[in-house]
Formats: sequence, structure tokens, C-alpha cells
Amino acid sequence: MASTDSDPLSTCTIPIERRGGRGEAGARSLERQLEQAPGVHDVEVSFRTGSVRVAYDERVTDEETIRRVVRDRNVSLHDEGETESDEVSTRSELRREAVFVALTLLGMVTGLVTGWLDGPTLLGWVGYGGAYVFGGWYGLKGAIETLRHRAVDIDLLMIVAAVGALSIGAPFEGAMLLFLFSLSNTLQHYAIGRSRRAIKSLVEMRPDDAQVLRDGEEVTIPIDEVAVGDVFVVRPGDKIPLDGVVTSGEGTVDQSSLTGESVPVPKEPGDEVFGGTINESGSLEIEVTRQAHESAISRLIHMVERAQSEKAPTQRLIDRLEQPYVLGVFALTIAAIGIPLALGSEFTSTFYRAMTLMVAASPCAVIISTPAAVLSAIASGGRQGVLFKGGEHVETAATIDAVAFDKTGTLTQGDTQLTDAFVRASAGDGALTEDELLATAAAVQARSEHHLARATVTAAEERSLTVPSARGFQSVAGKGVRAEVEEVTIHIGNRSYFRTVLEDTRIEGLEPGLERLRSLEAEGKTSVLVAREDEGGVTVLGWLAFTDTVRPGAAEMIADIRSLGVEHIVMLTGDNERVAQRIADEVGIDEVQAELLPEEKVTTVEELVNRHENVAMVGDGVNDAPALATASLGIAMGGAGTDVALETADVVLMGDDLSKIPYVLGLGRRTRRTLVVNLAIAFGAIALMVGAILLRGIPLPLAVVGHEGSTVLVSLNGLRLLGFRK
Ligand code: ADP
Ligand code: MG
Repeated sequence: MASTDSDPLSTCTIPIERRGGRGEAGARSLERQLEQAPGVHDVEVSFRTGSVRVAYDERVTDEETIRRVVRDRNVSLHDEGETESDEVSTRSELRREAVFVALTLLGMVTGLVTGWLDGPTLLGWVGYGGAYVFGGWYGLKGAIETLRHRAVDIDLLMIVAAVGALSIGAPFEGAMLLFLFSLSNTLQHYAIGRSRRAIKSLVEMRPDDAQVLRDGEEVTIPIDEVAVGDVFVVRPGDKIPLDGVVTSGEGTVDQSSLTGESVPVPKEPGDEVFGGTINESGSLEIEVTRQAHESAISRLIHMVERAQSEKAPTQRLIDRLEQPYVLGVFALTIAAIGIPLALGSEFTSTFYRAMTLMVAASPCAVIISTPAAVLSAIASGGRQGVLFKGGEHVETAATIDAVAFDKTGTLTQGDTQLTDAFVRASAGDGALTEDELLATAAAVQARSEHHLARATVTAAEERSLTVPSARGFQSVAGKGVRAEVEEVTIHIGNRSYFRTVLEDTRIEGLEPGLERLRSLEAEGKTSVLVAREDEGGVTVLGWLAFTDTVRPGAAEMIADIRSLGVEHIVMLTGDNERVAQRIADEVGIDEVQAELLPEEKVTTVEELVNRHENVAMVGDGVNDAPALATASLGIAMGGAGTDVALETADVVLMGDDLSKIPYVLGLGRRTRRTLVVNLAIAFGAIALMVGAILLRGIPLPLAVVGHEGSTVLVSLNGLRLLGFRK
């Protein structure tokens, strides 16, 4: 997301008590209070997900102060590490709510049956009394909590309606309202818990102990006590307890818990493995690289939890509207009592009708419609190895109509291979053999992180060449590199490097060299020239050519996103036009923007945003970071390993699986459709019932059933997204 980089704003997320589906009106008012605190710029509070997010000015305040302010508002704070006991308390809370719901039902039935049988009135009143106490308990608590934050909410509406019904001698209707209200709240509470638990089940993937090697002996040690650098052993079928690097052994690992990819990944010494994944075959010895709480899976869980606390725009809007809406319903109810009475209507029937109206017009279903869907979508993504960094990105994903892809490492596998090393025949005195050319190039490239550099070094190693050492390494982004090898400067780069960086120098052999680059590129090979510079000037020594394989499934993925309605697909690359065009043709991309410098990728994305408005950029997250941040939706691939990817993008694909891109766009679209359906159900039910009441009147129990029924319906409809697959 674009932010004002000039302000030294920090953000923090403070976990607070959760109140099921309740209390968002109180949250609004708490937001306003927190905004008054010095140094606080932007606040978002949610009792539904139990979080306070604050953007603050570091120069004025800090997280500790903000926590104190929150606590001073009578909101209890949770500790970060408390998730497990939290889980237990949520579950026992839920059980208590369920018991209360059952007792409400019992009281209501007792009251009703004694009434029918002309039984003792006392028993009847005890029944209704019980129903009111148990059914109203949480609602009253919530209403008071919210009133303390100087706001009103639907809890208050429901309590008033139930008491109102009682006051006109309709205790059954009131009891039923409380019963259904507490039932639907318990269901919502359960539903929100479900989408949280979908993520929590990831933690259970991870064993509690590791078999650590100490002095050649295997010792069982709790994972929290294992240090970075320790070596542990996993056998076939074992879960890998911690993140690390394989030091010995070979095997395949099922990484689906983290990346959602079901194909087992082969591992050999030097490869990275992740805690929570399953070793399928072979014994591995693994050196720990991260402590338990920093592991990829812990970060995934943490980020999904934070994501769920960031509201989608629709939800933010609805939460803002709760308060005025509730006040509106109160006003409507008062009008529905006052006006007919003034016109001489009879009191009891007028009051009854007003209570019916109040229940029918209450926005419970409207309020739960959005979080039920968005939270489920985020949780569903988490289980597929797709991390949405906030609810708003789910909504953005629905609107994407153009997608830009980085080429290297995104559409291609990024395992670039050197295919040819040519020596220029007439390089004169400086002429080298092919191996010497490669060894010299590798000397320079040993200092570079670029994929062409890595391929060069690997090729030299494969040929067991002795690589000399290099000094004074310099690189020109998107163009090439240079360094001193054996007293001469070696330049390696593309056309643009030789034309611009060495602009004023006469370069011997440049024209035939560029000619060769053209023909290699026509074959789809990325190529660079190698030249030496000494007192005599610059001489082209030869050229190197590379290929990189297109990821399997890339063409299918492009076809899939097109069928989802994406109009324009662009490839952005620093590589040569011809090479890029070949790959674009192979996978079916509309437009190629080649030979871009990293900053030009940003301007290209800006142009796309101007033309298409909602543009997704897919990159491998390291050198594409600025472009990812510029796009409406930045999608980073391969987040399991790199921090940069996790930081800059809006959506992170934990694995390298391209098929997750149609999943992201598809999930966004499905979520939006669910939102539309949910809002239609919620507002439709209100309009229908209010209309019916005004035209001819309906019994209170029917309004209660219609109101609570639509609430339950939208919750369940939202939960369906948990099962979304591509
Ligand atoms: P991409 O990631 O799309 O390949 P880059 O901006 O990293 O884009 O690189 C663009 C081009 O710059 C490469 O195709 C290559 O021609 C040249 N280049 C960049 N770094 C190097 C390097 N270390 N050695 C040789 N050429 C390089
Ligand atoms: Mg790249």
C-alpha cells in the first residue's frame, strides 16, 4: 500500500479481549477516544477479532503508552504468546454461552407450557424469568460495555425490545427473541472461532520436541530450547520440528502445510526445510536456522491473525454505520409509538407493533455479513499457503483486471543455466580459451547475487575450473558488472551496458559481438558480452548465453486468469526484448515490456494502474519490491524463505506455485459475490418485514424468526468460503 514515507509513523497491533460478534459500535467509540491520544494518527479497533491497530508517531509516543491508554479505557489486553490458553478460554466461553442458550430455551418452554395447561402462574413466571436472565445475560453485558464507551449497539436494541414485549404482557415473544438472539450470537462466535481455528490447526502440525544431536547422541529436547546452529535428525514419516538447512541425507518433504503444494519437494544437503512440514522418505540431519517462534509457520500464523484484524472496506463502512443505524431504529420505534398514539390508537397494539418493527429493522445480519465472509476467505487462503495481509486485499483481488508478471523467477523457474561460452576468434593478444573465458567471468560474478552470475559460477564449478580472485567489484543495476581480475578490468553486461556505461570508449569487436548477441537472443537465450579493459582500450573477449525454463503450468495459469475476466496481461523484465517475447508467446502474454531498469518497472506499473485502475503485480519479491508496492495488489512468490517478500507484498504465496494466482483472484471474486448475496439477504429481510409490518402487521415471533434467521443464514453462507478451492 502507498503510505506517506516522510512521516516516521510506526504501527503496532495490540491483542485485546474478544467479544464474539459483539461490540463493534463500542469499538468505533474507543477508536475515537484513542485518536485523541498524543502522537496517535490512525486507529482501528475490533472486538470481533480482538485487536487494536495503531499508527503512531514514534517521536511522540510508543507502544507501551498506547497499551496503557487502551487499558485505561477498561479494555483488557492479551499477551502475544497467549494463543494456546486463549484457545482454551474461547472454547469454555463458547460452552458457557451454549449452556445459557439451552437454559433460555428451557425457561421459554416452561413458561409456554404452563400457560397452555393453565398451570401455576408462579412456575410460568419462573420459566420466563429464567429465559430473560440467561438469554439476556451476554446481550446486557455487551450493551453496558458499549454504553460505557458512550455508544449504542444492537445488543441494546434487543434488550429493549425484549423488555418492551414483557411490559405489554408478551413474555413469550420476548423470551423467544432473547433465545434466538443468544443462539445466533453463539453461532457467530463459533463461526469466527472456526476461521481462527483453521489457522491454529497449522500450529498443531508442528511437533513439540526435536531429536537433537549432542556429542553424537540423539537427545529429545523441547523445540523452544533448541538453539540456532543445533543439528537435529528426522526419519521418514517424521514431522520436521524447526526451520533449518539439510546438512546430510536426502529425501522428499511434503510442504503442503506451509505452501499448499501437494507435490513432495526433494531435499539434499544445502536445501532449506521448514518446521511443520513432513519428511516422507530418507533420514535427514538438519541444522537449525531459526528459533521456533521465528519459523516460517509461526510467522504465517501471526500474519494471518494480523490480517484478520485489518478490515475490508465494506466492513469498515458497515461498522461505521452501526451506530447511526441503531439510533435510527430507536427513532423509528419512538415514532411508531408516538404518532399512532397521538392519532388516538390503542396503546397495547401500537406498542406491540413498534416492538415488532424494532426487531425487524435491526441490522444484526447486516453487521455480520461482511466479517463472516472475509474472515473465512483469509482463513481459507492460509490453509492453501496463500497469505492475504488484510481483508481489504481480498476485496481488491476481486476487482483486478490487469496483471503484470516479472519474468525471471516468476514465470520462469529462475534456475538459469549457462548454455554457451564463446570466445571471439579475433580477440588478438588477449584471446582466451573457452574455459579461461568462463573462469574469468566467474571470478567477477562470484561477487554478484544476480541469477546470471550464479549460473556463471555454477558452470565454472561444474567444469572444475580454477577461478581467480577479483577486486573492486561494481555492478550497474539492470545492465552488468565489472571487477579487476589479474590486473585488468573485466566488464560483463548487456547491450545497454556497453552502449551507455562505456559510452565514450572505443570498444574493439563490439559490433560483431552485438551481432552475435542478437542471434543468440533470437534463439531465446539471454546473453551478455565479456570484455577486458587495459591501457590499450577495451576489447570484447567473448560472450555467454543462458536459458531459463518456463515454469510448468504457466500457460495454463495465464489461461485461467483470463477466464476469470482479466483483460490485460503484461510481462515486465530487465532481460532482452527478443528473449522475453519468446517466453511471452509460449505462455500467452499480451504485452512485453523488456529491458527495464528496476525503477522503470515501477513507472510501467504506474502506467498500467492509470490505464486499468486495478492492477496486480506478481514478482519474486526481492528486486520487484518497489513495483509490488506500487501495484493495487502486490503478489509475492515464495514467501516461505524470504522476509522481503513478507514485508512488501499484499498477498504472499508461501510456495512457488503459479496456480495459486488464479486461486487468489478467484477467491476474491467469490468473496465479493458472497458479500453481495449476504447484504442482499440482510437488507432484503429487513425491507420485506418492515414493509409487511407497515402495510398490514405481522406477529412479533415472525419478525424475530425472520431477523435471526437471516443472521444465521449470512453467517453460514460466509463460512462456506472456508472450503473454497480453485
Ligand atoms: P531480470 O531479473 O528480469 O533478469 P535484471 O534487472 O536483474 O532483470 O537484469 C537485466 C539485465 O541486466 C540482465 O538480463 C543482464 O543482461 C544484465 N545484468 C544484470 N546483472 C548482471 C550480471 N551480474 N551479469 C551480467 N549481466 C547482468
Ligand atoms: Mg526477477
